[in-house]
Amino acid sequence: MTTDQEAVHQPEAMSFRAEVQQVLHILAHSLYTDREIFLRELISNASDALNRLQFEMLTNQDVRDADAELGIWVEVDKDARTITVRDSGAGMTRQEMIDHLGTIAQSSARAFVQQAKAQNANSGDIIGQFGVGFYSVFMVADKVSVVSRSFHPDAEAAVWEATGGDSFTVNVAEHAARGTSVTLHLKDDAIEFANDWKLEQIIKRHSDFVAFPIYAGERQVNQQKALWRRAPREVEPEQYKSLYQQITLDYEEPLLKLHLSTDAPIDLHSILFVPAKRERGMIERRIEGKIKLYSRKVMIQEEAKDLLPNYFRFVEGVVDSEDLPLNVSREGVQSNVGANTQSPIQQRIRKTLTGRLHRELNDLAAQDTEKFAAFWKEFGVFIKEGVAVDYEYRDDLLKLLRFNSTTSGEALITLADYKGRIVEGQKEIYYVMGGSLDAARNSPHLDPFSARGIEVLLFSDLMDGFMLSGLREFEGLKLRNVDEADIELPGELEAPVSSLSDADFASLAAGFAAALGEQVKEVRASKVLRDSPARLISDDDGPGREMQRIQQMLGRESEPQPRVMELNPAHPLIVALAQRAAADEADPIVAAAAEQLYDNALLLEGLHQNPAGMVPRIQRLLEAAARSGVI
Ligand code: ADP
Repeated sequence: MTTDQEAVHQPEAMSFRAEVQQVLHILAHSLYTDREIFLRELISNASDALNRLQFEMLTNQDVRDADAELGIWVEVDKDARTITVRDSGAGMTRQEMIDHLGTIAQSSARAFVQQAKAQNANSGDIIGQFGVGFYSVFMVADKVSVVSRSFHPDAEAAVWEATGGDSFTVNVAEHAARGTSVTLHLKDDAIEFANDWKLEQIIKRHSDFVAFPIYAGERQVNQQKALWRRAPREVEPEQYKSLYQQITLDYEEPLLKLHLSTDAPIDLHSILFVPAKRERGMIERRIEGKIKLYSRKVMIQEEAKDLLPNYFRFVEGVVDSEDLPLNVSREGVQSNVGANTQSPIQQRIRKTLTGRLHRELNDLAAQDTEKFAAFWKEFGVFIKEGVAVDYEYRDDLLKLLRFNSTTSGEALITLADYKGRIVEGQKEIYYVMGGSLDAARNSPHLDPFSARGIEVLLFSDLMDGFMLSGLREFEGLKLRNVDEADIELPGELEAPVSSLSDADFASLAAGFAAALGEQVKEVRASKVLRDSPARLISDDDGPGREMQRIQQMLGRESEPQPRVMELNPAHPLIVALAQRAAADEADPIVAAAAEQLYDNALLLEGLHQNPAGMVPRIQRLLEAAARSGVI
């Protein structure tokens, strides 16, 4: 090289952004025991680049080295203490290297740094959870050179270099072939990795099913053959686990696996997983799974969204079909292609996969109650959402629903269980809504049901209200909220005896109505209450009611709608209050009790907007009780 050229080819130095600097610093000093994941990250980047290239070549033959073998080569130079991972993928231009290798999503970086600080440098778990990608090389290397040449025929080669400090350099490079070559200069304490055998083990462990050949020490190391194209009986449990980890970077075992491999009537090979947890790791706070879509060995969508109904969006895995039209574009990933714009093949795939998933989940419920309960705990909310919005799979979804009930204790029941236990003459399914399960269990509305031994479903979630808007009926039985007036229940019960005269009760009702003003439409005697003194009933059953309740629970609608208050004339509290009201129309204890009973009712239903506001009144009532000396 002449002096002239050197002047032109001076490396250009650039600074990493502050967040990247921090991440690099943590990685460089990490004590993470799983440092070998750096190789998985590099191979995964290489595989992505090969995929991009392969996809490009479907429509564009005008790429550099169009005939080059698509592969990944891992080479060790013991003397130089380097490892090189080379691929013949899409490569990067100089600008792409600056843009892609010098940055890390700001929010991720910040979350990572915060978490690392909180865990006091024991960054092991965090690195595993975050998947810091390319930067993981700085756990084992103190210098990294990336030489790359883009597939664009006119692109020049460039080299990017960093030493784990605050800056990197870029320069032009000699690199004839298309693709990327990443060379790691190993740190003293990472020399163990300069070993072909060791690298082979790592590749087998983490990258066995990468779709391109990975060569180490002259021979191919990975199996490469897609697991999902094999017959399920040929696949070992360990292999599923390994595929799951490669796809999701989740270290936990999946909760459920489904493997489907057929050639007819359509070519469809798929492995789907339900993860153990809805949320994983720190960065991976996403609750949405990813399904990779392959056709003819090419990954055509990395996040295929339309292959399953939306409510199954927590499912992850791979779907492969030779029958797919290749115009399913990579870009289709982003655009929200709905089921209605799908080709008949796609629709068929969707139907098959959805049907199978429902079947597997039902089988799980039948065979392993505990595991299904774990599924329900993590993903029940998606099933409820499905019930609210998806009519196509309604019957399947209803089978998956689980409920707490007044008589089931800790156990969860199905709608079919409920139906099997209804009492003679019962024509509806009853439910109660509360701010929590405990509050629901204490609802005054339950009095007439418990007295008759009628089971009531307990709801306490926001999502329950939403679900109910789509769940009005099950196998001929209507669902009904126990807070409605005039529910006719089977079997006559002896009415509780009240010692109150009609006149005394009327004084009390008038006192309550005056104290509560517009908050109530009416105060009247209850025919159904037994153990509770009062309740608020709803007298309309408009479909908007549950949605309105959701709004109230969210605090969007601060004033609760006026409701009818029912008092239990046989309850000792009501009797005593009525006697006070009869003696003194303006008795302050009657007014305070009216407000408190109203608040109690809202509180149990989870609709109270300001429970702390009750404290002064409760204190006044306590004071009155303390002074009278009776309780
Ligand atoms: P991620 O892979 O999650 O995007 P990385 O930090 O591992 O994050 O990589 C950053 C980006 O650098 C990649 O998205 C890709 O655009 C580019 N890149 C990394 N390695 C390669 C490679 N071998 N070939 C082409 N581009 C690459």
